[in-house]
Amino acid sequence: MSALCATLLALAGTERAGAWGEPHATITRAALATLPDWQRQRLGEEWEALGSHHCLIPDRVHTEKENARFAMMDSRPGVVYLVNLHLPATQPENFEVLRYFMGKGVAAMRVGDLRDAARYAGTLAHVLEDWTCPAHCVPGDNMFTLFKQFLPPPEPWRYALLHGPVENGTLKVTIGSREPRLLADSVDEAAFRLLQRANEGTAAARAQVIPIIQGLYSGDTNAVVTAQTSAAVCGAGIVADALHTMFCLGAETPLAAVPKTLDLSSCIPLEATNLAFPQGAFFSRPYWGHAQRGVILRDGTNAIPLSLLVEEQGGITEKQFATGIGTGTRSALSYLVPAGVYDRFAVLAGLQAGLGASGNVQFSVLGNGKVLCAATVTGRQPARRLECPIAGVTNLQLVATSGGGDGKGNFAVWAEPQLIKADKGP
Ligand SMILES: [Zn+2]
Repeated sequence: MSALCATLLALAGTERAGAWGEPHATITRAALATLPDWQRQRLGEEWEALGSHHCLIPDRVHTEKENARFAMMDSRPGVVYLVNLHLPATQPENFEVLRYFMGKGVAAMRVGDLRDAARYAGTLAHVLEDWTCPAHCVPGDNMFTLFKQFLPPPEPWRYALLHGPVENGTLKVTIGSREPRLLADSVDEAAFRLLQRANEGTAAARAQVIPIIQGLYSGDTNAVVTAQTSAAVCGAGIVADALHTMFCLGAETPLAAVPKTLDLSSCIPLEATNLAFPQGAFFSRPYWGHAQRGVILRDGTNAIPLSLLVEEQGGITEKQFATGIGTGTRSALSYLVPAGVYDRFAVLAGLQAGLGASGNVQFSVLGNGKVLCAATVTGRQPARRLECPIAGVTNLQLVATSGGGDGKGNFAVWAEPQLIKADKGP
């Protein structure tokens, strides 16, 4: 729910729930329904309250003062209504929000305070639900003012603020037999993985905005509800993983195995504030150097698989890669990295085997602005494996620049970029 809505409601002294108001409870209950029985038993009487009440705490900070502290952050003393809990902000800010409330919930559970734990869980669920809500996912256009310029409304909608209509509705949400996933074995990493999931959820919610608005304009309620439900189901899956992970970490039960590596190309670069890859500059090359995930652009439109010349068993062969980034030169991609979670970064850097024969690119990996490792690779050489320690690094940058020549073959590939955790030992 928007800050504006909440403030107006608070001023009016009403308790009317707007926003993903009723849907907050519906989505939270859909998520809870997929969690294992032991978690339900552990939460006891708080379980029902989490799905009907606690997930609304951040919207009710002015009317339920006794619970307001469960939606406040130590880093923002005195701020009772935290806008960040309702609207996604920058990735570092979003990460801090997730880490804080995940951490608070886990800590409360570990000392047996299930009452507090369930309230923090409610706030965490609310945050994820709002960030993946269609009315909250258009940057800087919370009331769809700009949107109405792109999609001019028919007369009855001319002066209507679309925020409420876009998110209000009576939805049926179920995520069926989907198993909740344990995101990580520490709060910091769980929050970081949750950030990536929330980014995907925000992007998925955006895909529903135009269908919802067109449905409103034409009076097609079914179309509106279908599109809203699609976003809500996506959000419920993310909430399920978040709560499942919080309860596992809080219960300190033996945890299921979690991955030791994270594919960096699954993350959103910080330059791409609207959650994709940054647009290429006109002066970059080839074809604006536009970065893509999992493919490279042959001629600005046609995507082809990432492939590199690699050295294997004494010979050089061509190999395709399912994960990685295809880009041009003058490309800098910066990533938020949680300090103290990952130990090393590794990547295979080189030129696209089919397109880059005449290329010459310098690949550099920077941590907090310092070069950690670098290599210059030409199109006739096999790709180079770059591996460097990243302990303490919070900003990891992949930079591809021209190594000389005309640049026409500078189809640069960062294949299998991985954040790797340290071995914890037996
Ligand atoms: Zn809200």
